[in-house]
Amino acid sequence: MQLGYDVTVLEARDRVGGRVWSQELQPGRPDTVVERGAEFVLEGYTVMREIAQRFGLMAAPSGMSYYVRDPRNASTPITAEQVAAAARDLRPAAEGVPRETTLRAFLDEHGTNPAADEVLAARAAISWAASEDRLSAHVLLDSVASLQPLPTARMAGGNQGVAKALAAHLGDRVRLRSPVSSVRSEGAAVDVTVDGDVLHADRVVIAIPLPLLERLAIEPGLPDAQREAMARLVRGHAAKLHVPLAERPPTSAVIDVRHRFWTWTATDGSGEVQPIAHCFSGSPGALAGLMVTEGSSSWAEALRALRPDLDLMTDQALLSTWDDDPWATFAYSGPGAATRPGDEELIRAPLGRVHIAGEHTAGDWAGLMEGALRSGIRAADEVHAAV
Ligand SMILES: Cc1cc2nc3c(=O)[nH]c(=O)nc-3n(C[C@H](O)[C@H](O)[C@H](O)COP(=O)(O)OP(=O)(O)OC[C@H]3O[C@@H](n4cnc5c(N)ncnc54)[C@H](O)[C@@H]3O)c2cc1C
Repeated sequence: MQLGYDVTVLEARDRVGGRVWSQELQPGRPDTVVERGAEFVLEGYTVMREIAQRFGLMAAPSGMSYYVRDPRNASTPITAEQVAAAARDLRPAAEGVPRETTLRAFLDEHGTNPAADEVLAARAAISWAASEDRLSAHVLLDSVASLQPLPTARMAGGNQGVAKALAAHLGDRVRLRSPVSSVRSEGAAVDVTVDGDVLHADRVVIAIPLPLLERLAIEPGLPDAQREAMARLVRGHAAKLHVPLAERPPTSAVIDVRHRFWTWTATDGSGEVQPIAHCFSGSPGALAGLMVTEGSSSWAEALRALRPDLDLMTDQALLSTWDDDPWATFAYSGPGAATRPGDEELIRAPLGRVHIAGEHTAGDWAGLMEGALRSGIRAADEVHAAV
């Protein structure tokens, strides 16, 4: 738009933000804003911070570190420091194995501390929302696995504020409740079908979740090599649980190794700790074990056993699942053990006048808000260069 293009954003939902969705857990109480999807603003989120700043939005310190979690419910008691030391010791070996070595195979061969290996496997499966036999051993080289107490933040008032600010800037160029059913390129035009109506565009950027992209009617279709590269990405499955607390606790971060979820209490933009227990679980096995398809009760019970220090109001718990969300169908993607060199370029390759964006096209930033934003800028640059 800044460069003079006439832009239309077609959004299937009745809100902007997609997998970023902020909500007051207790309506009318701004100190209870929770993130039903993406939460943490992590190391290196330069683009997100810059966009937020442009709209006068501030990242608020969370008062805890996403990277350091007190391990509990492991087969053998172990501390966060011992796990961090074991992860550090494993890094040189992880650097020496090919990307296709799974984390499971790697830990079986190189692990020397079974308790630490158990925590590292749980930690990786939760964060990448996929089991350790799908992930590459190279996840141990990622900053997420550094287990160092790096600072973490969330946007004051909710991460969705960034999407809302961007949408407000675009005004009525953003059309909600506008699901696209097909994208067809013909000559110098692209026809986009929305609810039976056809819009004509010079160029189109498709930024929808990976499984929906694979199913979308695109003509000409995605080349086989591109589809195969997409198929090699890991599809993460994750859910969140938010439980109000009768009292404000100190900040904390605890991982339940057996049940494969973690829970934290954190400060918001006011600097005070929110009266909320936030929980995240990732990987299909963990979600099945917590019986999230049945509701929040199994997970709330596991949380109560894990955190007797918290005064939980489990009758007001809010469960957020994404597999059953028709406009997401999963949580997020990531490069796994099957990913090959060159896949990133293949996945994001434009199809003539149709450009592909979204977190799944962001390589090392895949699966993250920062990756989604970077992919949008990359696609916009691509369009501008082509025009
Ligand atoms: C539970 C959970 C926790 C997460 N935690 C973090 C975190 O802590 N930190 C972090 O950085 N990231 C996190 N993420 C990942 C982050 O949410 C995503 O990487 C990012 O938001 C994806 O943005 P996107 O624009 O690629 O896709 P989306 O946000 O999914 O946006 C795509 C949009 O396309 C719309 N759409 C789909 N199909 C159509 C169609 N046919 N027509 C029109 N519109 C359509 C959707 O409604 C959606 O609004 C988390 C995600 C989940 C689910």
